[in-house]
Parts: sequence; C-alpha cells; structure tokens
Amino acid sequence: MATPDGPDEAPAFDTSQPTIARVYDALLGGKDNFAADREGAATYLKYVPDAGRCAIENREALVKGVQYLVRQAGIDQFLDIGSGLPTQKNTHQAAQEINPEAKVAYVDNDPIVLAHGRALLATNNSTIVVTADLREPQAILANKEIQDHLDFERPIALMVVGLHMHFHDDEKPDEWVRTIMNALVPGSYLFITDFVDTGEPLQKGMEKAGLESLGNGWIRTPERIEQHFLGMPIVPPGVDFLARWFPEDPEGDVPAAEELEPYQRILMAGIAKKG
Ligand code: SAM
Repeated sequence: MATPDGPDEAPAFDTSQPTIARVYDALLGGKDNFAADREGAATYLKYVPDAGRCAIENREALVKGVQYLVRQAGIDQFLDIGSGLPTQKNTHQAAQEINPEAKVAYVDNDPIVLAHGRALLATNNSTIVVTADLREPQAILANKEIQDHLDFERPIALMVVGLHMHFHDDEKPDEWVRTIMNALVPGSYLFITDFVDTGEPLQKGMEKAGLESLGNGWIRTPERIEQHFLGMPIVPPGVDFLARWFPEDPEGDVPAAEELEPYQRILMAGIAKKG
C-alpha cells in the first residue's frame, strides 16, 4: 500500500498496475508515479522515443486552448474531464493566470487525482476536483459539487483533452460527450485532443505502446476526430497537429505538416462552439 510521497504511508492506490494518469505523469517528468507506471512509460518510449515530448506538447496545447477560451472566447467556467494530475501546469493555472475568478471543475476517474486535489483545494476556492467517470455522463451532470461550483445557466468549456484515445470507437465515446454538451447552454465550447492516424508508422507505434502498457490508446483518422465535435462549428484553425494549432492566432505563420518532426504528428487538437 502506498502513496506517491511515502511508500509506507496510508493505503491509497493499487500501485501494481499502471494507470493512465500516472503513466502520463511519468512521461511529463512528474514524480507522482510508481514502478509499474514507469514501466508503462518505458514501453511508450520503446515505440516512440519522443513520447515524453508528445505528452509535453499535449499539455502545452491544453494551455493554448485554455488561453484562447479565456482571452478570446470570454469563458470563465471549465469542466475538465480526464484532467490528470493538477501538478504540471494544468487548466486551473492557465485559466486563473488570466482570470483569477475563472472556475474549474476537474473530473478524473483515477483516485490519485483527487488525492492531489485535496492539497490544491486547501488554497484555491475556484477549483474543485471530483472523482467520476466520463462513461457515466449523467452522474457527472448530477454531481452536487459540480452543480454547486459551475453555473449551468452560463457558458462552460467542456474539456476532454487527451482522453478519447483511451476508448475504442465501439464504446461510442462521442455519445457520452454529447450527453454533457446537451446540458450546456449555447455559447459553450468543446475542446478535444486525440491520437491521429494519417498512416505514419510512429502513430501506429503510439497505439502499440498504449495497447501493450495500458490496454488502450487507439489512433483515429482526422475525419473521425472531427466527428468528436458532434457537428458543431470548429473554430479556426480547425482540427490540426498540436504544433500547428494556434487558436489565438489561426492565421499566424506555422510550419507545414511535413516540416514537423514525426513525433509532432501524433496528436491533433480542436475546439468547437455550441451555437
Ligand atoms: N487532460 C490532461 C492533459 O491532457 O494533459 C490529462 C490527460 S491523461 C492522458 C488522461 C486522463 O484521463 C488520466 O488522468 C486518466 O486517469 C483519465 N481518465 C481515463 N479514463 C477516464 C474516464 N473513463 N473518466 C474520467 N477520466 C478518465
């Protein structure tokens, strides 16, 4: 039994199996992970030597998206599902740096996220952390803490960043997201990043690494990723590779896709607005 900070302290998590949140933390260079998670991260690095940089670019894209949502879209409420650990710069820091009043509800199904959230809650009244599962969207909507924290009469940005790849299409993840978007008022946003499949071997390597270490982590065509947005208009520059994706400056000078490093062509991002 263990906690990340002290292997002999109070029981908290099953550390014998890797979890998505902790493997991701290991790839980001964090300290909130265990031996099984570091093994999982090593499997990623075996197939994709720059997997750590992919994780960092994903988190950087999250920050770019949040900055766009706060500064340009005027959003001050975030429902961040599959939030990961609030340690490396995450949604609440990115949003509250610009608008200290911005409210963030983090939702994750890994209890380690809540364990860390408790420390965060002690000093930040604008952020809550809830343990819940995207696969049960009605429970998320009915959650009292979330209901009390966010005003569902006003626009909310729903973030599902770095999560779709962990579900097979047969599970119909878009339907869970649709249930939540249906509960949000017009003017709300949906922000997604996902693994992409444009036929490159390294993308396939990312999928192999995920299946071998975590049992999930599928890649999808860009067309399929666009469908995650449920037919809502996608804000410029549309769905694109993370390194080319600058929603605050969509006309800016970005490298051509062919100029990117292969590891930079593994994830795509997009933001759509509910009309
Ligand atoms: N959103 C963060 C980011 O992009 O930097 C973290 C992404 S991390 C790859 C995916 C997170 O989703 C993990 O923290 C994992 O625990 C969480 N997760 C996995 N399955 C989930 C589910 N069914 N419901 C809610 N969270 C889930």
